[in-house]
Amino acid sequence: MSESTDCLFCKIIKGEIPSAKVYEDETTYAFKDINPKAKVHVLVVPRRHYANVAELAKDDPAELAHIVEVAQSIADKEFHGAYRLVFNTGLDAGQTVFHVHAHVLTGETLDE
Ligand code: IMP
Repeated sequence: MSESTDCLFCKIIKGEIPSAKVYEDETTYAFKDINPKAKVHVLVVPRRHYANVAELAKDDPAELAHIVEVAQSIADKEFHGAYRLVFNTGLDAGQTVFHVHAHVLTGETLDE
């Protein structure tokens, strides 16, 4: 599915809901998490709507690789290339927004 009308992150990507943009290109959008869990906490999302990382990996593995590249470039800029990349997948893993997003946590030394 390329877009979901009820999806919070589809609305953010379209500019219908404001966000603190960090990066964008033709396929990908990155913005600051509203409730940061690290000094720098960015969400990197594909413009196309996929519910979770497994769907994205199956349908568009190149975009998943690109999301990792974008995360790396954010961490290169913010914290000498060190970062944690998290994809919560499923309600019981803490996923609350069902538009796949990479949490990029960086900008400081992270607890284990
Ligand atoms: P999840 O729990 O892995 O699905 O992550 C969803 C993330 O989206 C959480 O870390 C929220 O803080 C973040 N979030 C929710 N609404 C917004 C928003 O409007 N702008 C930016 N981040 C948001």
